[in-house]
Amino acid sequence: MKKLLLLCLIIISSSCTTTPVSGNKAFLLTSAASENQQGDDAYKEILKKEKEVTGTAQSKMVEDIGRRIAAVANQPDFQWEFKTLQSEEPNAFCLPGGKVAVYTAIFKYAGNEAGLATVMGHEIGHAIARHGGQRMTQEMITGGLLAGVGAVGFSNMDPTKKAVVMAALGVGATYGITLPFSRSEETEADEIGLILMAKAGYNPNEAVNFWDRFSKAGGSAPPEFMSTHPNSEKRREHLRSLIPKAMEDYNSSAKLGSGRTI
Ligand SMILES: [Zn+2]
Repeated sequence: MKKLLLLCLIIISSSCTTTPVSGNKAFLLTSAASENQQGDDAYKEILKKEKEVTGTAQSKMVEDIGRRIAAVANQPDFQWEFKTLQSEEPNAFCLPGGKVAVYTAIFKYAGNEAGLATVMGHEIGHAIARHGGQRMTQEMITGGLLAGVGAVGFSNMDPTKKAVVMAALGVGATYGITLPFSRSEETEADEIGLILMAKAGYNPNEAVNFWDRFSKAGGSAPPEFMSTHPNSEKRREHLRSLIPKAMEDYNSSAKLGSGRTI
């Protein structure tokens, strides 16, 4: 019994990591390397299905913003890529390992470069905080569906497990499974995103403006990004409370303000 307890303690202590920027503790049964591999595989699956846009002013802006954020994100294990995908659905994601995609329909809400940096910073925040790995860990403990996928890439995974992994990574929509991030994960991604955009040179006040604009995006069916990112006054209030700290980073950056208009 003692041995078992000791073993548990070893597992727990070796699986607890501290999230950069937010400083939150995360419990993980997956390794960063396996998450990055799965992120890579998921990215390839998505790119097979979606139409990539290249050479436009907007796609170049996505790359610009991405490079600026990557330069301050301190993620040496990430192999960054920033793609623009043609879609009617305003959405964006960053998979473990730094594979980022922005869907064209989100440009009209972004308004300017800093608005787009808000979205990209937030998504990158989910990846840096390893929310995908945390959700896979939860699934391993409670659902059992992911038994054995810890170190496996997609080529050796059955379709059901693949779909669950995609959902845990926040990109399950292609498989019909949308698993919104929890409120605390959203808050953490907001916090990391805000600091990253400020360090990258974008005025952090624009993050509040973006969510404000996005909250006015209506229609009978709310866009997926909106339904998975509840846009409450609370979110903006939390962001506002973080602005003084983010302004310190912004003031020592190259200061691009709100950047170019989209
Ligand atoms: Zn989110």
